[in-house]
Amino acid sequence: MDSKIKEKSGTLYITATPIGNLEDITLRALRILKEVDVIAAEDTRHTRKLLSHFEITTPLISYYREKEQQRSVQLVERLLAGESIALVSDAGTPGISDPGAVLVSLAQKEGVTIVPIPGPSALATALSVSGITDSSFLFVGFAPSKKSQRKTLLTSLTDQPHPIIFYESPRRIQGLLNDILQVMGDRKASWARELTKIHEDLQYGTIAELLALASSKNNRGEFVLIVQPGKLVRAEGDNVEELLIWYRDNTSLTLKDVSRKIASDLGLSRSAVYQEALIIYKKK
Ligand code: SAM
Repeated sequence: MDSKIKEKSGTLYITATPIGNLEDITLRALRILKEVDVIAAEDTRHTRKLLSHFEITTPLISYYREKEQQRSVQLVERLLAGESIALVSDAGTPGISDPGAVLVSLAQKEGVTIVPIPGPSALATALSVSGITDSSFLFVGFAPSKKSQRKTLLTSLTDQPHPIIFYESPRRIQGLLNDILQVMGDRKASWARELTKIHEDLQYGTIAELLALASSKNNRGEFVLIVQPGKLVRAEGDNVEELLIWYRDNTSLTLKDVSRKIASDLGLSRSAVYQEALIIYKKK
């Protein structure tokens, strides 16, 4: 990168904002939001409310998923011309299940100075009250909304040994819990709902218990779901037929889920395993 351009270029501040309670914004974030030339926001109307609460009048420009590429080019041009820019998302830390990565990588490529302004994230907040003692975890974010894709993902995660963290909306929480129960079996789990808000709700139990709660409760608010690893059960069998018989006789997995699991474990086509499963399951 040409050092002259670098000297002149402005700074990109990746700025975390509250996930509910406005008191959670940091003093540094407030100063940066006041001082930059422009704030790039996932939803300008949403961020305008935050800014007016703190009497900040910095101009806003939209930066959202569908326009990430195009907007990133424009924003990096402005950075290279010397403007300073803060990027914010609707809630929490940009780039974590939120737009941001495209802008950051283009700014990196062009030698722009990038400064993180840390603050709230639903991920760290939920983890802090999970009581999980493992030092590692697997952050999935949002599972796919299509059931078959979601089940394929869950199948691939069944045997991994770390707690798994999902983001989920109230509309889909039951579907996700239901699929986890079917594919991964009942396990210890917890959810953190409406974090930092008036109706903050932390629940600890098993997937089946959370599912019962989700079915009986008014599930407003967003969720972070943490699923503990299950007991590692080794399926016994040297070939597809033997494995199918083992799953049929030792688990409550559906024929489809068993086919998905065996196909994923052995790297086979799911439809081929499914055809064989139809025969094996008929025999019982
Ligand atoms: N970038 C954000 C962060 O750092 O946490 C996440 C944005 S993502 C689009 C939104 C998801 O984060 C929600 O669906 C929910 O799973 C989680 N989330 C955000 N705010 C939350 C809150 N107050 N309580 C629980 N979960 C929350």
